[in-house]
Amino acid sequence: MGIYEEWGVEPVINASGAVTRLGGAPMPPAVLKAFVAAAGESVCLDRLQGAASRYIRQVTGAEAGLVTCGCAAALTLGTAAILAGQNLRRIESLPNTAGFPDEFVMAREQRNGYDHAVRAAGARLVEVGFHELVAGAGVRRAESWEYAAAFGPATAGVLYVYDAKASPPLQEVVDCAHARGIPVLVDAAAELPTPTNLQALLGSGADLVAISGGKGLRGPQSTGILCGRRDLVGSAAMQMLDLDDHFELWDPPPELIDKADWPGLPRHGIGRALKVSKEEIVALLTALRLFVSGEHAGEPARAERQLEQIAGMLSDIGCEHRFLAPQNEQSLPLLEIEVAENAVGRTAFEVCQRLRRGRPAVQVNHSRLREGRLLINPLHLTDERTAILCQRLREELAPSAEQQSHSL
Ligand SMILES: *Cc1c(COP(=O)(O)O)cnc(C)c1O
Repeated sequence: MGIYEEWGVEPVINASGAVTRLGGAPMPPAVLKAFVAAAGESVCLDRLQGAASRYIRQVTGAEAGLVTCGCAAALTLGTAAILAGQNLRRIESLPNTAGFPDEFVMAREQRNGYDHAVRAAGARLVEVGFHELVAGAGVRRAESWEYAAAFGPATAGVLYVYDAKASPPLQEVVDCAHARGIPVLVDAAAELPTPTNLQALLGSGADLVAISGGKGLRGPQSTGILCGRRDLVGSAAMQMLDLDDHFELWDPPPELIDKADWPGLPRHGIGRALKVSKEEIVALLTALRLFVSGEHAGEPARAERQLEQIAGMLSDIGCEHRFLAPQNEQSLPLLEIEVAENAVGRTAFEVCQRLRRGRPAVQVNHSRLREGRLLINPLHLTDERTAILCQRLREELAPSAEQQSHSL
């Protein structure tokens, strides 16, 4: 019996990618081994975060880095750092921001559910630009003069959601914010620390960058990285770490914190609810090391082979499909399946639901269901899971007459 069955839950075949709903990305064996080894010993968490900062700095070139419990947590902590800095009164009062600047300016078209993490620290979002392209009511996207026009005495920072196609370009927004001394926090959750990405992100001069550890990096699902300016990352650390110590004895990690900057030790800050465990920190660092060592270089070939196998089965049953090329240097190819409702006798939604409810349960990527398409993301596939996935897809996409009359 597997570990999940022991608790009365069935594991799922994940053909959806590193989605949080299904537990994120698979952790490589070396990461799991590091997790277990780290869990068996005690360590000073602040020192461990200091070591993490050193390694993140080495890999990314950022001044400092902190392991957080996810990218969303990194956004909350980064916001708290920008709002409060080293001001003990502000640290104590967050998320209450009465009496100090608390506005974060962002493009309306970049609003998304994760910006709740920024609001959670106490920031108020000020939207600029419109979303005219989606409304079909204009041709322009957000423009940097609109950020500049929104800056005022209550502005604390800028929130920018990074994507290679985001507009205006990050560099333009950073330049415009820095002209007014305003820091920029970047949500780069899905980005990986590849040289191209790091150049685009940190090379822009962005003050803080938040990355997810449980997506493409394949660290524990509940990890992330906040990196950038040392004073801000240090403030984030001070608002997250448990500082229940005597000030005289307190010996903070020099990679992150200068004791001389702090007249006293803040009590538990807003980030105390976002604590990261020693084993998560070590596992994330191990995942980062594997990633930069090129450990995943063989993944595209593995993924392609498995998608070819699924495509072969789809051709057999006359189901239209196509390969989608990887989005960037680190992502995998995807397989898009057209669900022809009149041939299959089911809509894409119905096929997706039946796959979820069947045994073993299969979850395909659901982002194109409204266009009548299923997407297969091979990140989590093994040869064994691919064989089961093929079998389940065949059953749902080429249902025999008998099966149909049973089920409907
Ligand atoms: C996934 C995601 C997050 C949250 O990342 P976690 O590591 O799961 O906390 C934040 N922002 C964006 C744009 C994301 O895609």
